[in-house]
Amino acid sequence: MIIHLKKEADKERIAELQKSLNAFYIKRNGNDVLITGSGMKQVPDDIQKEVQEFWVFDTDVQLASKTYENKTREVKIGNVTIGGESKSTILIGGPCSVESEEQIRESSELLKEMGLTTLRGGCYKPRTSPYSFQGLGLKGLKLLSKMREEYGLNVITEVRDASHVQEVIEYSDVIQIGAKAMYDQGILRACAKTQKPVLIKRGFGTSLKEFVQAAEFVLSGGNPNVILCERGLRTFETYTRFTLDLCGVAWLQEHTNLPIVLDPSHAMGYAYGVPNLAKACTAMGIDGLLIEVHPDPSVAKSDASQQLDHEQFRGLKGQLDSVAQSIGYQIV
Ligand code: PEP
Ligand code: MN
Repeated sequence: MIIHLKKEADKERIAELQKSLNAFYIKRNGNDVLITGSGMKQVPDDIQKEVQEFWVFDTDVQLASKTYENKTREVKIGNVTIGGESKSTILIGGPCSVESEEQIRESSELLKEMGLTTLRGGCYKPRTSPYSFQGLGLKGLKLLSKMREEYGLNVITEVRDASHVQEVIEYSDVIQIGAKAMYDQGILRACAKTQKPVLIKRGFGTSLKEFVQAAEFVLSGGNPNVILCERGLRTFETYTRFTLDLCGVAWLQEHTNLPIVLDPSHAMGYAYGVPNLAKACTAMGIDGLLIEVHPDPSVAKSDASQQLDHEQFRGLKGQLDSVAQSIGYQIV
């Protein structure tokens, strides 16, 4: 249940109520908000006069639900706003991993030249094998931050465990939680304690309910700036790396108030399919696209097969502009 308290409630009383209901407390649009589990269906008699408004739910998809707020939340990424009334699809580009200053500078120059705003690059890579390239860590974060300053780009990069959260907050504009890390309660709780936007990638075996409940950890802990990212599920199919769940995206758009980013690069696993998938995603009226692009994909240290080269990425932008325009959106 979500409860908005009347304005009269003072701090002491809010704390008392929070304790007696075993609830989370957040401030949302000027309201004092208490959140309990969805098992609670009625406001206890003794607090009824202190309640302004309340919402009852069937499941623990609560703060993220359209039942609570029926418009997509606005999330600010540096100087760019997605969600709300913006009708903007942010095209996030950059390599899978930050590999060197030269490489990430080339990516930054490409985005700048194309009038784009947001650079991605992993520094703490959640690799499947311990023998693969694990990312440059702090050195990579410092390179991203240098690019952010020199090129005026917003930066998104991932955390692999909770100990990375503070560093990533310091050097970037969006914290990415990877598909394998999205169940990590330490990461989710640490991300709840900041106001930095958090992009949560859906695990490849994660139901929509579990996915949104991961977001609820961050929202109920006090950070309203959550973005969901669909990046493909594992199915019986082996010819593509994963299966992009566009039906799931339609469900999220209908039932949740969180901005949605789609990642066709990781879903497809092969560069050849990425442009058409990106167009299909854009046609759904989404808040962002995450596309891996590398100055020379053949030598990329991670996800080489799926990264576009610069020429392909430039070509894609023109196509996405037309698709976006046809539904009243713009690529930013
Ligand atoms: C990535 O974005 O490079 C990445 C590793 O993604 P995912 O967590 O979706 O596999
Ligand atoms: Mn990758």
